[in-house]
Amino acid sequence: MGKMAIIGGGPAGLMAAEVLAEEGHAVTVFDSMPTVGRKFLMAGKSGLNITHSESHEALLWRFGTARPDLQQALDAFTGEDIRAWCAGLGVETFVGSSGRVFPKAMKGSPLLRAWLMRLAGLGVTIRRRHGWTGFAGEKLRFATPEGDIEEAFPAVLLALGGASWPRLGSDAAWVPWLREKGVDVKAFIPANCGFEVGWSPIFVDRFAGMPVKAVTATSAIGTLPGEFVVNRWGIEGSLVYAHAAPLRDALLSGQAAALLLDLLPGRSHERIAADLQRQPSKLSLSNRLRKATGLDPVKLGLLRECFGDLSERDAAGLADAIKAMPLPLERPRPIAEAISSAGGIALEAIDQRFMLKTLPGVFVAGEMLDWEAPTGGYLLTACLATGRAAARGMLDYLA
Ligand SMILES: Cc1cc2nc3c(=O)[nH]c(=O)nc-3n(C[C@H](O)[C@H](O)[C@H](O)COP(=O)(O)OP(=O)(O)OC[C@H]3O[C@@H](n4cnc5c(N)ncnc54)[C@H](O)[C@@H]3O)c2cc1C
Repeated sequence: MGKMAIIGGGPAGLMAAEVLAEEGHAVTVFDSMPTVGRKFLMAGKSGLNITHSESHEALLWRFGTARPDLQQALDAFTGEDIRAWCAGLGVETFVGSSGRVFPKAMKGSPLLRAWLMRLAGLGVTIRRRHGWTGFAGEKLRFATPEGDIEEAFPAVLLALGGASWPRLGSDAAWVPWLREKGVDVKAFIPANCGFEVGWSPIFVDRFAGMPVKAVTATSAIGTLPGEFVVNRWGIEGSLVYAHAAPLRDALLSGQAAALLLDLLPGRSHERIAADLQRQPSKLSLSNRLRKATGLDPVKLGLLRECFGDLSERDAAGLADAIKAMPLPLERPRPIAEAISSAGGIALEAIDQRFMLKTLPGVFVAGEMLDWEAPTGGYLLTACLATGRAAARGMLDYLA
């Protein structure tokens, strides 16, 4: 059985290690960090959303234009398979109210601990503090605490992650080394990111840190319900991340972009206008708005922030503002703060086995590939599925 190298001990790399070791191969996982799975553990901090319970067809749809290239891998390791795999590691999962799947303990650490024990039992060696620094002829070069080393392997998987949160290990330092070898690597850009808004100082002082709940937001992808958070520099949170891709693309290509908000999605325009009309005219505008609509202070603040003086508007005009408030965005937050990244190795640069077309024997998986998906467990799902698929590709290649 051949010696296999996996570089990158995130979910994609560890999943590939499991598949290869189960087939009896001697597997070594190299990682530059002192411990593996750091981003996986970070993902678990606010609840490890490991996959989604929606139909497989709906899940595939989340990968947009990358779907045709990822489908085989996702078909072979579905959301149901991920839940069964977690259960096999002693980690029961549950479906949250939004359909998202989490471990019952919410955190990633029990799952990672059980997984690393399984890998150790399968004979997988993990060499920590071994940062891959490029190719040396046929060999791979690593920086280690004992100095540089070079080793050759019949097949290698690179599972080095994307470019968000670089301090957790995935710093995209590898991009030039692959480009030099003729691999098409698209520039990394933030995905599932927050956006900067030119808030007034008064608005920031009063509302930074506050959630804006039960709204709908519309962008080029459609209208979605949810909530987001106002902070000092702008907005972030699940509803913002869901719309992030088209807004980011517009802003990065120099166009203006705004998130169109309905601050009272449960009430029709006519009903809001009628409720406002009924308020005594002697009341101040703020009191009329508050009493007629029940909008909380942060939503009232947003209205003032976006439209300025509303005093000239009649009831129908105020309802217009509440039902369709365009929040202008200045720019996406830096990639280092994003949940994930888009860009990376072009899907045209790999074959069906996840092998680089210009580097036979070198396979790739996970977030370092050029696909993106919203939050909802889709990121980990695709990392685990492509890790498995690339491992199968390595087995096929060596056979
Ligand atoms: C705050 C946060 C919350 C998230 N929450 C969720 C969630 O709930 N659900 C979800 O689906 N996704 C979530 N994600 C995204 C998810 O964690 C990532 O998509 C996933 O970890 C990517 O897996 P990967 O194996 O491709 O890469 P990574 O997990 O980034 O792992 C790459 C590994 O490669 C190593 N490495 C990099 N370069 C080198 C090198 N040159 N030499 C050696 N080793 C190297 C790194 O140290 C790292 O261990 C979250 C991300 C963040 C930042």
